[in-house]
Amino acid sequence: MKKLSIVVPCYNEELTIHPFLEATQKVEAQMADQLIFDYIFVNDGSKDKTLEVLRQVAGQFENVHYLSFSRNFGKEAGLLAGLEAADGDLITVMDADLQDPPELLIEMFAKIEEGYDVVGTRRADRKGEPFIRSLFAKTFYWLINKISSTEMVDGARDFRLMTRQVVDSILELKEVNRFSKGLFSWVGFDVAYVAYENRERVAGETSWSFWSLLRYSMDGFINFSEAPLNLAMWSGAGAFVLSLLGIAFVVIRKLTIGGSIAGWASTVTIILFIGGLQLLALGIIGKYIAKIFLETKKRPVYLIKEKG
Ligand code: UDP
Ligand code: MG
Repeated sequence: MKKLSIVVPCYNEELTIHPFLEATQKVEAQMADQLIFDYIFVNDGSKDKTLEVLRQVAGQFENVHYLSFSRNFGKEAGLLAGLEAADGDLITVMDADLQDPPELLIEMFAKIEEGYDVVGTRRADRKGEPFIRSLFAKTFYWLINKISSTEMVDGARDFRLMTRQVVDSILELKEVNRFSKGLFSWVGFDVAYVAYENRERVAGETSWSFWSLLRYSMDGFINFSEAPLNLAMWSGAGAFVLSLLGIAFVVIRKLTIGGSIAGWASTVTIILFIGGLQLLALGIIGKYIAKIFLETKKRPVYLIKEKG
């Protein structure tokens, strides 16, 4: 029988792990004749009792395992550690807060049996989400799909069921700055999507603030697109052409009607304009250099303190 590894990154999830396991174990029982379930929880440096809860459930159930990081490394690191540890024929990634309904696994597995390599999930709506957050999310997807050659599906969750082959391909990507939404899409393969209604988390609180989401989307742009660099280049080129025209105008005016000291204000404006463009371009280039710097250091993406 095939083995399904379930990877669950956890950050401050002491309240949700039990409800998550209960709900998922119901599905496990329903699928007992098709799949053997294996759970890998990754404790991402939680500040609450998550680790204690994980130790307890790992002691209680033979197919529940956990990894615990030395500190908070972020969800991307948790996903990577879980995928590296997973040895199933099929692998799924789920949030601990039950926003990814485990019942969907039945439908998702049926799609895999049909021959798909990846079955992703997407939210049919963004109900229960603050308006401004939806607006930014929609704008992000619209923009990144315009400027990046890697397609990212709006509303697609990280919750997905993948074959061994797909996970091995994802693990082939050795970059340290990992933007999973992009990586999952970049590897390709035959992907099917299952839609479902948005759910609120069962307990606890989201660890994403507006600013952390904004930073996250910036990472998406920088990691999966060169468009910001092109923007800097083209606005620089545009400003250069404009200044050539300006110089020509000044020289011709001097030779024909004679120069004047008027125009002080416009000169300052132009200097500010060019200066601003240069800073923008430098900032964008700096962002990419910072990424290169991090990549060349080849630091591990996470450090494990304890396993069980
Ligand atoms: N998570 C994590 N490390 C972090 C932040 C979040 O492992 O630094 C986990 C979290 O425990 C949850 C999943 O990532 O299982 C999604 O987080 P959350 O529910 O806070 O995000 P949202 O669903 O609001 O996008
Ligand atoms: Mg959540």
